Amino acid sequence: MVMGDLVIEVDVAVVGGGPGGYSAAFRCAELGLETVVIDAAKRLGGACLFEGCIPSKALLHVAALIEDAERARELGVDFGEPRVSLDPLRKWKSERVVGRLARGLASVAKARSVDVIGGRAVFESSRELRVEGDEPQKVRFKHAIVATGSSPARLPNLTLADRVIDSTAALELAEIPERLLVIGGGYIGLELGQVYAALGSRVTVVEMTDGLLPGVDRALVQPLARRCEKLFAKIRLGTKVAALTEKGSAVEARLGPDEVETCDRVLVAVGRRPASSGLGLEHTRAALDTRGFVTVDDRCRTADPAIYAVGDVTGEPMLAHRAMRQGKVAAEVIAGRPSAFDNVVVPAVVFTDPEVAWCGLTETDAARHGRAVKVARREWAASGRALTLGRSDGLTKIIADAASSRVLGVGVVGPGAGELIAEGALAVETGMTVEDLAVTIHTHPTLSETLMEAAESLLQQSR
Ligand code: NAD
Repeated sequence: MVMGDLVIEVDVAVVGGGPGGYSAAFRCAELGLETVVIDAAKRLGGACLFEGCIPSKALLHVAALIEDAERARELGVDFGEPRVSLDPLRKWKSERVVGRLARGLASVAKARSVDVIGGRAVFESSRELRVEGDEPQKVRFKHAIVATGSSPARLPNLTLADRVIDSTAALELAEIPERLLVIGGGYIGLELGQVYAALGSRVTVVEMTDGLLPGVDRALVQPLARRCEKLFAKIRLGTKVAALTEKGSAVEARLGPDEVETCDRVLVAVGRRPASSGLGLEHTRAALDTRGFVTVDDRCRTADPAIYAVGDVTGEPMLAHRAMRQGKVAAEVIAGRPSAFDNVVVPAVVFTDPEVAWCGLTETDAARHGRAVKVARREWAASGRALTLGRSDGLTKIIADAASSRVLGVGVVGPGAGELIAEGALAVETGMTVEDLAVTIHTHPTLSETLMEAAESLLQQSR
């Protein structure tokens, strides 16, 4: 690295220090490329670590503890009413979870000689970036990787300053409002809705489409919807909030011509948008699509030979694990390796209670594309392990090719579905057949047996 007149020259400049950016940077460094990461926050972790996946999972763990303690009453164990102290809870989340992981990333960066520059990076050309901030400088690169992620979408007509919050503010846990209105019944609306409900808020969810988690297999959503109906005060489907007005210290939300919902805080969780503007990409040959995503091929190359892009800024699904894989691919391609983002599946998990997880083809996709499939459904009511956990509300589904019996998709709903889906992803990614799953010995009694049993039932169907 050559320093002088505040110009740095590197092999690879990574813009954005989230999971896509740090995975790319660490792999570049491993492959012998001199690499820097530029991030406005001057630290690695991004939205996932500081305002997304990790803090939300910490809070969902606490919500699960509260709910398990409540369920224990039916089993003859009464812990009494939970008393939540926000200060120690925030401290645990910020210091012992987020802080510890952030320190871990910083030490990996140090060990691999990856410098993290604090500031906003703006492309001046296909060879140079300007870094704006406390220490303005220029970074000349042979290759750059755009890993700027995404930010919460806003509802333009619904802004009421501090009463209307997004997921970032909700995760700070500034307070537990008595009445919380959640706009959007997707990943964030349901995960954070459940957190706040467990911590004592009266939660109303308003979802524009006719079902929670639109696009997800209805059979998987059903047990979660039933749980949400118990946990939330109200769920309004097929509804949009037309207007928000302040009424003293409360907020009134107009849900329809004659319906008004009064709440103390509004959480807007209506999707995320790519963070691709203000980056100076117009000074390069990289192109954006109509939704603002940076266009990339299966090697994470943009239309500019020097510039690569990974993660949320490149499109759906906006999931950290997709970004991490893409980050490694981009690094390997830059290093001249024959790498490609040719994964068959990107598994997805909604970390609610119960968890919903899926990978590969769904029954709905198969019907839409007229693909001949066979489908197995294994209800957890017959699973010994599910009953010992007091949780018979789960379901495991396998979707296989009708002719070859190759596993094309797996869906799971129930506690631990987020872990169980790893077996499904492995099965689809490696081209396993239903028979492979059926003859693999699964430990008894476990929830993983439901995958083997679903596969067995498909084998019986084809006999
Ligand atoms: P989402 O796309 O999951 O859900 C948004 C929901 O809002 C949809 O159901 C949509 O129909 C609804 N909606 C949109 N406009 C509306 C309106 N005006 N009124 C009422 N409803 C409206 O988006 P999200 O929950 O904001 O999460 C954003 C993204 O972040 C996700 O798509 C996912 O990629 C990622 N994420 C992942 C996880 C996870 O992996 N567990 C968790 C949180 C977020």
